[in-house]
Amino acid sequence: METLAPFKEVIDEVKEKGGEAVKFCYQCGKCDTVCPWNRVRKFSMRKLVREATFGLSEIEKEEIWRCTTCGKCPQKCPRDVKQIDDMVALRRMATGYGVYPGSVKSYRTISTALASQGNPFNEDRKTRAAWAEGLNVKTFKEGMEILYFPCCYCSYDPRLKKVAQTTVNLLNKAKVDFGILGEKENCCGESIRKTGNEELFKKLAKENIKTFIDNGVKKILVSSPHCYHTFKNEYPMFNVNFEVIHVSQYVHELIKQGRLKISGEFKEEKVAYHDPCYLGRHNGIYDEPRETLKSIAGLELVELPEAREESLCCGMGGGRVWAETEKHERFSNIRIEQAIDAGAKVLATACPYCITALEDSRLVLNHADDITVKDITEILQEVT
Ligand code: SF4
Ligand code: SF4
Repeated sequence: METLAPFKEVIDEVKEKGGEAVKFCYQCGKCDTVCPWNRVRKFSMRKLVREATFGLSEIEKEEIWRCTTCGKCPQKCPRDVKQIDDMVALRRMATGYGVYPGSVKSYRTISTALASQGNPFNEDRKTRAAWAEGLNVKTFKEGMEILYFPCCYCSYDPRLKKVAQTTVNLLNKAKVDFGILGEKENCCGESIRKTGNEELFKKLAKENIKTFIDNGVKKILVSSPHCYHTFKNEYPMFNVNFEVIHVSQYVHELIKQGRLKISGEFKEEKVAYHDPCYLGRHNGIYDEPRETLKSIAGLELVELPEAREESLCCGMGGGRVWAETEKHERFSNIRIEQAIDAGAKVLATACPYCITALEDSRLVLNHADDITVKDITEILQEVT
């Protein structure tokens, strides 16, 4: 077995980079039992933790990059081994050496794009607000009710621009006083941090924080659970605390307050809801999306076999949104089959990464005519 370097130095480096908890592992293997990778191929978090404990990690191999940080095994681990932190610690080591094997080679160019243009697509920063043209969206100014921060995918990806557009349509219908910051925004940095690029995360976060403070931002509305997670749980490391709300929570509030009125009936009867890992398991938001869907006339909400805390990861977290995953190894394939088996005609969710994965699986599996994938805002758009 090829190893990074003999033992003690590596053990110390794992510890220094945040993976100290590996030493608590007693090799029970529960992590492997719940990990979605073992539904599509052989993968052992237990083994990776063991190797890290003895300084035998192989950073040049694919394995340390697989974990999607879905949060399932940390939830079940009897020894609080913090598997996500351990993998990020190993990735920080690999990033430090500039080692990116096969399926994650793209992380190098993604990092360059994020550093120069503030988005992973290397799209011109100046066009970041092009999705909003013709939609009567103002530039955020101090004193406005809320900043809408749509994320890189909703700003640039053709499928996900529609989510940003339906979101602002709903905000306009509810007469919310909101604005965007367009080219002043950077990627939130959540995913690149999980690939181990801590320096780049800090750069992106600090620039965003400066922009928010300079523009008097107090409350931020986000479409992506990844932005939600990092603004709420990671940016406080820079001594800031912005109020953050995910769009699935916000539209629920607007409906309860009577600001957003449901007037129509939903045409497709059965809708299944897929819990995104970073909304559900990582942040405990399970009820608002369901309550919103249930409040729509004509819509029957069906639960998937793995729901809420047990939700099946789409496969895109932890930076995997930019990694190459073999077609037959995509977790989202299993999710699409589950939704079809549950009789759903629509698979609803609330995350740009999940939508990307599920849309892809729908096509890969030839289910384009059997089921559609929609953001909650897209469903609301049809009935408000
Ligand atoms: S569940 Fe925790 S204690 Fe058990 S093998 Fe995995 S990391 Fe180790
Ligand atoms: S966090 Fe999720 S993807 Fe990562 S090893 Fe644990 S169960 Fe597997």
